[in-house]
Amino acid sequence: PLSPPAGETIAAVATPPGRGGIGVVRVSGPAAGAVARGVLGRLPPPRTAWLAAFRDADGAVIDRGLALWFPAPRSYTGEDVLELHGHGGPVVLDLLLARCLALGARPARPGEFTLRAFLNGKLDLAQAEAVADLIDAASAEAARGALRSLEGAFSAEVRALAEALAALRAEVEAGLDFADEPLELAAEAETARRLAELEARWRRLRARAAEGAALREGLVVAIVGRPNVGKSSLLNALAGRETAIVTPIAGTTRDVLREQILVEGVPLTVLDTAGLRAADDPVEREGVRRARAALEGADHVLLVVEDGAAPAAAEAEAAEAAAGRLTVVCNKIDRTGRAPGPAEHPLGPAVAVSARTGAGLEALARRLAAVAGRGSGTEGVFLARRRHLEALDRAGAALAAAAHRHREGLADLVAEELAQAQRALGEITGEGVDTEALLGRIFARFCIGK
Ligand code: GDP
Ligand code: ZN
Repeated sequence: PLSPPAGETIAAVATPPGRGGIGVVRVSGPAAGAVARGVLGRLPPPRTAWLAAFRDADGAVIDRGLALWFPAPRSYTGEDVLELHGHGGPVVLDLLLARCLALGARPARPGEFTLRAFLNGKLDLAQAEAVADLIDAASAEAARGALRSLEGAFSAEVRALAEALAALRAEVEAGLDFADEPLELAAEAETARRLAELEARWRRLRARAAEGAALREGLVVAIVGRPNVGKSSLLNALAGRETAIVTPIAGTTRDVLREQILVEGVPLTVLDTAGLRAADDPVEREGVRRARAALEGADHVLLVVEDGAAPAAAEAEAAEAAAGRLTVVCNKIDRTGRAPGPAEHPLGPAVAVSARTGAGLEALARRLAAVAGRGSGTEGVFLARRRHLEALDRAGAALAAAAHRHREGLADLVAEELAQAQRALGEITGEGVDTEALLGRIFARFCIGK
């Protein structure tokens, strides 16, 4: 297992670059006390906002502000931490940071404060990741999910599941010692029941984490359809501004346009593609090829059709390729007079809209949010990452294998699969994670000062 590099004291400006009402310099490590004495002339009272002058080496006042002193271990990192809250100007903060460095600190790397909090057992890995996710949250929903994870709700459920796995494994292993005695039917049935219960619990946890991952990372939605059905107009209407080129000439959107939009709190990456048709123009043929690729790679596909028109072969083909992740958007109802909202269509679940008037767009947004898994339960989502989902999936596969081995009567293999599942869950919270590479990857994506 890793431990924090002993002896090193780190310092960084913790507030974003630029000018602000206040700016914070954060210092963590054994020399934080010496830095405090150097800058403030004395150690401030612990955990108290203390008004003081911040002084340079020659005693000149750099700034005046609040000093906060958190002696170890009751601090964010678990080490001695000093925070200097001064005025938020880049020059003042640079001078203050330089003074801290001269007094024995070195510049912190991105995420290093949170990395130390993890290494000192203040946060587990999922909580540490939630710090970055809370800061980066693109919507109020995502922020709530991140906070839930940061407060440890996700970790607690992962750990509870791991403990239940461990308990069952211990019993299965104990049973191995009596392998030559006649099988106790009641005990066997009990094991089967508990395995099923663990799987059901795993499934609920997986669903909540998957919803959170969709909230965090968003869905990739491809807009496809024949030329001139209104794909670009629909993207513009959803995005609420002019981004794609809308023209009455068929085949204008040759390349794939990419737009980040927030629909009902869900971040979506929407791809506006060229029209679905066999083009003779080589430039346009390339556009059509990219449209196909976008359709194949998307989490969800909006197949835009002209309302009232019979499905064309290219549309039926696209609908088939997108089966199970398809919404047919019947556009231009301002011309046909059809009622906006959920509609019937031979190619799949449909919503009737007018990109021009905006009718039906709310229903479409609600459908996209539902597709992203939102609003399915009252439990609340955990803002999980792909990394967590992958670990959960490995745990789920091991659990399923354990149940299978149990039906075959292979108790030793049941115990082995349960151990596998337990290890996979441990990776989420960082138990047994001692690879610098994984930690490096996770913390490098933080900003400096976090
Ligand atoms: P794309 O080729 O599928 O991207 O289609 P565009 O978005 O470029 O639109 C093609 C034409 O259809 C333009 O003249 C749009 O103004 C028009 N159009 C798009 N949506 C609607 C709609 O809801 N109602 C009506 N009447 N015209 C629309
Ligand atoms: Zn277009």
